[in-house]
Amino acid sequence: MAKSIQQALRAMEVVVGDNHVLSDPGTLEKYSLNMLTVENIAPAGVVKPDSVEEVQDILKIANQYKVGIWPISTGQNHGYGMACAAKPGNIILDFARMNRILEVNPDLAYALVEPGVTYIQLYKYLQKNKIPLWIDCPSGSPESSLVGNTTERGVGYTPMAEHFLFSCGMEVVLADGKILRTGTGPLPGTKTWQIFKWGFGPYLDGMFTASNFGIVTKLGLWLMPEPPAYEPMGIVFNNPDDIDRIIEILRPLKINNVIQNGAAVTHVRKSLGHAAVWGGSKEILPKVGRRFDYTPEVLKELKDTYNLGNWNSSFALYGLPEIIQIHKKIIKDAFSSMSNYRFVDSSEMSDSPYWQAREKIMRGEPLSEFDMSDWVGQAGSLWISPVAPVQHEHVTTQIEIAKDTCAKHGFKYSAELIVGSGRDLHHIIWLMFDRSDMDERQRAHQCVGEMIDRYCEVGYLPYRTNVAFSDHIMKKLGLFREICHDLKRLFDPNGILSPGKSGIDLHD
Ligand SMILES: Cc1cc2nc3c(=O)[nH]c(=O)nc-3n(C[C@H](O)[C@H](O)[C@H](O)COP(=O)(O)OP(=O)(O)OC[C@H]3O[C@@H](n4cnc5c(N)ncnc54)[C@H](O)[C@@H]3O)c2cc1C
Repeated sequence: MAKSIQQALRAMEVVVGDNHVLSDPGTLEKYSLNMLTVENIAPAGVVKPDSVEEVQDILKIANQYKVGIWPISTGQNHGYGMACAAKPGNIILDFARMNRILEVNPDLAYALVEPGVTYIQLYKYLQKNKIPLWIDCPSGSPESSLVGNTTERGVGYTPMAEHFLFSCGMEVVLADGKILRTGTGPLPGTKTWQIFKWGFGPYLDGMFTASNFGIVTKLGLWLMPEPPAYEPMGIVFNNPDDIDRIIEILRPLKINNVIQNGAAVTHVRKSLGHAAVWGGSKEILPKVGRRFDYTPEVLKELKDTYNLGNWNSSFALYGLPEIIQIHKKIIKDAFSSMSNYRFVDSSEMSDSPYWQAREKIMRGEPLSEFDMSDWVGQAGSLWISPVAPVQHEHVTTQIEIAKDTCAKHGFKYSAELIVGSGRDLHHIIWLMFDRSDMDERQRAHQCVGEMIDRYCEVGYLPYRTNVAFSDHIMKKLGLFREICHDLKRLFDPNGILSPGKSGIDLHD
């Protein structure tokens, strides 16, 4: 380890206490694990602050010794990097100890949290205090964080699924240790920090998402008042070629707000992957292996067990029971022109762990433990996430590119299409591979790079990527990349914050 990093770690011990600075081999290995196509990415150390003041002091030390700091809120960024930095040798700033729920306002339906607060923690807090507000969570780990997910511009499954859209007011520690509050936060004694997003003057919040310009130490989030009624809907489609029609039917339902949450349409391979992550790994993994490959017989058996079709759609209705019934009829009528599909009723939902999980997550209940035995460290799993217009021709093109590129490198297509606003569709392609097989890992690496290239060539930018491919995407963005680097020089002249995050790196 370089002398400067050792000196920085010793200085940080004085700030946070020596038991909160870790650099033993076991810890470094734990924080280096990922599920990507690259080697594990080892940090130089891990530091766990307990306060904003400690974060300020840590950044001053990092500037003094010119060492890289990579913040994680809970480090559950599965499929995009987990707790890893983009490059080895950084100090991971782990917010596990800064996990305070600072405020929940039941009347105005918002929360203010520190970065280490997890989805399950806020969920349990609301339950325990009988506060009739729902959170919106991603479908990975319940132990993931509201701040980490929101700064990554992650999404969930209730009508408040676009997490950054429903965030309001940040506290950010800049690289030089200064504290910036966004929105109306700069006004001393502000009464509207978590109420009014735009504040006065330029809106800066977006600059602190998917970037490395500052560390978010507090975040306001709007919550959803528990609706008087909730009705999850599931549809199983048996014809693999029906995806075009499904998308065309969903678009007007979404864009006119008949369906209020993100409507997911999930390929059967990804449905099975999710069923495995959500508690079925012991039944599913021995039958499909780390590549999620199956024979027609196994597919039939698993489809029957989990009540699945080739495409599986889930969305939900919220509000007054009378209105829900009207919307339900509109939806059923809209699909009636199709054949070879069926709605999954509520009793069928409770019989299938897959549909149970869907039912829970669409009302903001974090799912059970991230359950993928034999997964972390050996099995490869990553997301490729291009965005498409919600129109069948774009979706068809995107699926063709994914299938073709996967087949070329020896993989099978697996994905979920999430019709977010009714205009944009997140095509979340899930590449599953055996990370312990070097040849396969290399093919997976080529597959991801090539798929990103092909999408970008025809105008589909991924909304997010894993730490090994950020640079790959950013290099396609011309002036935008240059401006990001100008901003980086302004905010963080020594380039100490998350070097390489989103392809922004002063040391390249
Ligand atoms: C089966 C499965 C399903 C998933 N489903 C979803 C889903 O539905 N939606 C979704 O969005 N994701 C999903 N994911 C991806 C991922 O698990 C989540 O996005 C998760 O919330 C990210 O982990 P985290 O909250 O612990 O963030 P972290 O790992 O803590 O942070 C992620 C990154 O954000 C940055 N960051 C973190 N904290 C800060 C901070 N305080 N200041 C500045 N930057 C910071 C860092 O670069 C960090 O590396 C899924 C993954 C799996 C395996």
